[in-house]
Amino acid sequence: MSNALVTHYLEKAARGGFAIPHFNFNDCWDLQAIVAAAEELRTPIFAATVMKVTDSLGVDLAASVCKTIAARASVPVFLHMDHSNSVELCAKCIDAGYDSVMIDSSAKSLEENIADVRAVIALAQPRGVNVEAEIGRIRGRDDVEGSYLGNDFLVQVADAKALAEATGVDALAIGIGTQHGFYQGKPELNFQRLSEVDQVVDTPLVLHGGTGIPVEDVRKAIKLGINKVNVGTIIRYTYLKGMHDEIERVGPAIHPGVVVAPVLAEVKEVLKNAIRKCMSENSVD
Ligand code: 13P
Repeated sequence: MSNALVTHYLEKAARGGFAIPHFNFNDCWDLQAIVAAAEELRTPIFAATVMKVTDSLGVDLAASVCKTIAARASVPVFLHMDHSNSVELCAKCIDAGYDSVMIDSSAKSLEENIADVRAVIALAQPRGVNVEAEIGRIRGRDDVEGSYLGNDFLVQVADAKALAEATGVDALAIGIGTQHGFYQGKPELNFQRLSEVDQVVDTPLVLHGGTGIPVEDVRKAIKLGINKVNVGTIIRYTYLKGMHDEIERVGPAIHPGVVVAPVLAEVKEVLKNAIRKCMSENSVD
């Protein structure tokens, strides 16, 4: 069985014409800003780690920080592993109490991708953990996990259908032209392909590369079948730039907990803007 609450909110989003925001966190501070934004606007969220975070903190510490903050929160906070490149890392996250894990085998053949997704589902389902897979490729810089630098990125409709049917996966990220990191120029989303996938796949669809996609494009994608929108780059950029500027202003002879406070207020505003793009305000039961 999948995670009932995660599934409930993904289905509620599909019925209600909005998307559940997914925010990548880096530490206990930016995670608190993420949860504060979600509480203010009354939305469920995915709080997600990428491999650079689990490599640095360890899965156990990342999980316990998030679980502690989630337990205090007045809205659902789903701990999610973003772009795991191995079944083994997903297994670790499942053991550590994650609510949801993504296995990204989109660089492999369809058959290998299906095999990896099935292997993760076999571990996840008995523990009530949701699984996200990816088909097609998310473009972007190669220093962001799961990013792809080539031109052959667009999801093939038949592949999406085959993977969804062969695995029964809980959520499916699809390559429709979005990219990780900041866009150079205007994002070019292939809405036609999104709509074609949505017509043949029942699985909730996920839009990656949320930083910098204009509000009208995010909302059009939601209308055409996207139920979860991932945002990462703008969170860590606002956080680190804010810390850099604030330390330059006040000097480093200060406590981190003091210097971080005004920066987190700024991060929270960025997040509230992202939540509004997803139209998920006031969607908590
Ligand atoms: P951005 O870093 O472009 O916001 O994308 C985040 C993402 O898709 C994480 O999976």
